[in-house]
Amino acid sequence: DASWGFIGLGRMGYPMAKNLRLKVPKEDTLLVFDVNAASSEALVKELGADRVKVAKDVREVAEESDTIITMLPEPHHVKGVFGELFAMPIMPSPGAPQKLFIDCSTIDPTTSTQVGEMVRNSYMKAEFVDAPVSGGVVGAEAGTLTFMLGAPDSIVPRVESVLQHMGKRTLHCGKPGTGIVGKLANNYILAMENIAVAEAFNFGTKMGLDAQVLKDLVGCSTGKCWSNDINNPVDNAKKDFVGGFGISLMRKDLGLAVAAAEKAKAKLLIGRPALEAYEAVEKVEECKGRDFSVVYRYLGGEEKK
Ligand code: NAD
Repeated sequence: DASWGFIGLGRMGYPMAKNLRLKVPKEDTLLVFDVNAASSEALVKELGADRVKVAKDVREVAEESDTIITMLPEPHHVKGVFGELFAMPIMPSPGAPQKLFIDCSTIDPTTSTQVGEMVRNSYMKAEFVDAPVSGGVVGAEAGTLTFMLGAPDSIVPRVESVLQHMGKRTLHCGKPGTGIVGKLANNYILAMENIAVAEAFNFGTKMGLDAQVLKDLVGCSTGKCWSNDINNPVDNAKKDFVGGFGISLMRKDLGLAVAAAEKAKAKLLIGRPALEAYEAVEKVEECKGRDFSVVYRYLGGEEKK
């Protein structure tokens, strides 16, 4: 029987761990850990103590599981967890399959690659892959996430067989670290189009154009994008920008992308100013904690209920 471990049961990790548990055979084991004990207890309560066990720390998860998934907020959390894991040797059980760590957190390529090398070079000879996700909390709950995978070819089938329990698609981007690069590149584009859409709707409506007309027009023209069609700021204003992808997460992802691009000496024209814009929006009381399309409110865009 397979043994599964899950570290980080937040807004994304909780539903992912739940879907994994519901899809793998009953006889398999799932061991979870979150520094916030209430999350682990909630999962046990929801699925039953016979199906989920709570570990005392991350080391116990790694010791007892063959496949370990991590879904943590930021690079320092990932570094912290793996630092704790490798502080003292974890001996693999004789005859057990090679341990596999799948990190689904959105972090930076340097941290991910360094942690991966540490895992691969350890006495454990385990494998570590980066598999950040797209699809948000809704996709995590529905089990329809897209994973961007950075992994050696040889391990891809095993990783895919795991990820299919939590998502619909896995895109193998290349060697370890490239999944993160793909995720950051995608969110860089999203960060820019969101600002552009907010600005265009603000000046368009101020010049007398109806917001719905503009949305329909963009939706069948060359400005077509997710921020217009699916996450439109004027539509989101009607729900007070509640829910969705939080402005602080977008600021975090854009910050990681800009820093990674600068480290790679790739020239950026609008990355830094856009990052500063998100930082400014996030500080405003009426925008804090809301969907990142709240940039439109920051600009003073017209809001109809
Ligand atoms: P979250 O803050 O809701 O959850 C993170 C969880 O990790 C928390 O429960 C926290 O207690 C736990 N944690 C922190 N340190 C820990 C440690 N040392 N050991 C064990 N648990 C620890 O965040 P989230 O929204 O679930 O996002 C997780 C990652 O997924 C982030 O990198 C985020 O950027 C990315 N992501 C989020 C979304 C989204 O829509 N929320 C979408 C795509 C990707």
